[in-house]
Amino acid sequence: MSHRPDPDRPEAPPLFPPASLGVIGGGQLGRMFLQAAQRMGYRAGVLAEHEDAPGAQVAHWSVVGRDQDVATLRAFRDRAEAVTVEFENVSAPALRWLSRFRPVRPGWKTVWTAQNRLREKAFLTRHGIPHAPWRPVRSVEEVQAAVRVLGLPMILKTAASGYDGKGQIRVDAACRAAAAWDDLGRAACVAEGWVDFVAEASVVVARGRDGRAACYPLALNRHDRHILDTTVMPAPVGPVVAMEAREMALGVAQALETIGVLCVEFFLGRDGRLLVNEIAPRPHNSGHLTIEAAPASQFEQQVRAVCGLPLGGTDLARPAAMVNLLGDLWIQAGGEPRWDFALAHDPGVSLHLYGKQDPAPGRKMGHLTVLDPDPESALFRALAARACVLGKM
Ligand code: ATP
Ligand code: MG
Repeated sequence: MSHRPDPDRPEAPPLFPPASLGVIGGGQLGRMFLQAAQRMGYRAGVLAEHEDAPGAQVAHWSVVGRDQDVATLRAFRDRAEAVTVEFENVSAPALRWLSRFRPVRPGWKTVWTAQNRLREKAFLTRHGIPHAPWRPVRSVEEVQAAVRVLGLPMILKTAASGYDGKGQIRVDAACRAAAAWDDLGRAACVAEGWVDFVAEASVVVARGRDGRAACYPLALNRHDRHILDTTVMPAPVGPVVAMEAREMALGVAQALETIGVLCVEFFLGRDGRLLVNEIAPRPHNSGHLTIEAAPASQFEQQVRAVCGLPLGGTDLARPAAMVNLLGDLWIQAGGEPRWDFALAHDPGVSLHLYGKQDPAPGRKMGHLTVLDPDPESALFRALAARACVLGKM
């Protein structure tokens, strides 16, 4: 039994600046968390795998190493007074170990549930949260059983460490199912029934130590090659769908008893029903536009929740759109895209670059945000700005 006072009890004192906060993961999400923390006066550092990781570039301090390495974890614990994560593929045992010494938000249980699709689906089923039909796949027999139960097409997804559509295969013919599972290395998978959706959407929720939660409006997301391409917030849906999405997202945060930020991704079916696709227990690409559009961004909410502070406002000052800047843009431009063209074209464009050196196809290098009284115009302007960077002035 630890005699350390429980940092998650509501009456525990909040952590004020200049306390030192630590984020596990040095990607763009960690970077934007650090920037939000620093703006509030915290010292903020990172556990990153490389010295030049996007997060490490802006951190007050960095511990370079892997989260499974004990010496690395000790060094990180010694510098971080509270701990958060930028992604779900963090070692859950490492988080559990850290929580013996420091507040860790989200806690290891939330991360453990969300980092494995089998556990995530079981969680949704257990709590009666609507989701696509699914079956576990851990043997050839289970692959065939999944085809029988779910029908075709069906998607096989590895249970662990998938993102941006990696580790997924669509199965269109029963005779191809076993081969698809072979192609996924016969790893533990979930098989999902195909969802004929009209749109994909998401809600970012923040939940504080006192159990109070706040969510941003529903975001409408469009993907390209399974990678998020554009987000518009608020989504142009009716009030009933918007409210249902909100209730479901709050329900997920409550059921997980998470402290911090999470994103619930939805499919909006042709029948108007919402199904939860997946849960990201951290800020999400579809919430990046809250940096400009909301009183408190999703990253600031993460800081507030981690530190036990009251959450900030989530009502948008204006509708907003975000477009991602993938490595393909650099390849098409044959070098650095002409940001000056985009900025000259529209002074309302906000440019975010993550400091990544190697633009690879599909790699998220940055994003653009535009606010506009009309959400459609915000998207149109953001797309026009992105097109500009390849053009000639
Ligand atoms: P992320 O980068 O969001 O973490 P991911 O690789 O974890 O992505 P999913 O969100 O499960 O994977 O799937 C990626 C995309 O594939 C979805 O956004 C959707 O466009 C499509 N997709 C996934 N599952 C289904 C399904 N059951 N039916 C139809 N399309 C699907
Ligand atoms: Mg997804």
